[in-house]
Amino acid sequence: MRRTPKFEDCFAELIRLPSVSSIDPAHDQSNRKVIDALANWLDALGFTCEIMPVSDNPEKCNLIAKLGEGSEGLVLSGHTDTVPYDLNGWDTDPFTLTKKNDCYYGLGTADMKSFFPIILETLERLSSTKFNQPITVVATADEESTMQGARLIQDNKKVSGRYCIIGEPTGLKPIHMHKGIIIETIQIVGRSGHSSNPALGNSALEGMHDVISALRDWRDELQSEYINKDFQVPVATMNFGRIQGGDSPNRICASCDLSLDLRMLPGMKLDKLNETLRNKVRDTLAGTGLKVEFNSMIDGIPPMQTSKDSEIIKLSEKVTQHAAESVAFGTEGPFYNDMGIETVILGPGDIDVAHQPNEYLQIDRIEPMINILSKMLLHFCEEK
Ligand SMILES: [Zn+2]
Repeated sequence: MRRTPKFEDCFAELIRLPSVSSIDPAHDQSNRKVIDALANWLDALGFTCEIMPVSDNPEKCNLIAKLGEGSEGLVLSGHTDTVPYDLNGWDTDPFTLTKKNDCYYGLGTADMKSFFPIILETLERLSSTKFNQPITVVATADEESTMQGARLIQDNKKVSGRYCIIGEPTGLKPIHMHKGIIIETIQIVGRSGHSSNPALGNSALEGMHDVISALRDWRDELQSEYINKDFQVPVATMNFGRIQGGDSPNRICASCDLSLDLRMLPGMKLDKLNETLRNKVRDTLAGTGLKVEFNSMIDGIPPMQTSKDSEIIKLSEKVTQHAAESVAFGTEGPFYNDMGIETVILGPGDIDVAHQPNEYLQIDRIEPMINILSKMLLHFCEEK
């Protein structure tokens, strides 16, 4: 007998419940209702559920649901939040799961609410299987904004397991690595003055010019030192994406901000890069009298690399008939790997339609994903 609602009903319910996360407080929402719905269904399947607030705000939570005991076993993990949406671009209501053209449309269908009803459906079908290793389902908060949910799981070590599957949209292909990301704003403060006499001020803009030159030299060094041909862009990148400073041609520029995005390869250490970045900027400005401040809107995302020899990668390649690849986006994977839980990113959606109006999941991706999860659960957790 089925213990949870039908696949399509669970999916529709998760899409119906808004759970936008954003670093802009005007768009940021609770994910609590999604967490509660998942906890109810997993509870009905016999899981022990723990709801964990990720901050002082009890409306932002992770769910850790465990079936069975032991420190090995398989973790199935996904994020419950979506990015903000622009109603103008949508042909259907983003919060109504709409079946059309052999696809399910709705906000989060691909990225990645669909993973949860697929997990439930798989567990329903395996209801008579005897497992001797635990199955843990993790649903996180704030993946699309700060990754605070995954960071908390890493910090408090409440999740255990040998291997993990994260159902991000990879088009049913296993992903074993991605780059890490640092986003940083550098603010240089000098002194304004009349343009006719440079001694009257201290130009933040000229200081920033020197900083950009120094960072470009550093980028060249990093790109010749680290190369990984498994990535489409085989080197670390540093994009100077936004600059703002000064107000008038006849005034010395008193303040200049630069925001940059640094994407590092696996093997490059996020903390070390952050430190080197700061040192390069400070060294460049030493003796100029210019002041500098650094502002990270979000903590960095470490690069991810799970060995191709890991059993989870080998099995993923076997059951999907695809060699493991790399992707250009960041995930919660490196936080699990850091806990010693070897992780593959493997899910049914397509990244090309994620974070877009009219996001969808092709219906013909669902059965293959249930099949993949069944095989993985039976391989890692079934009593032999
Ligand atoms: Zn995602």
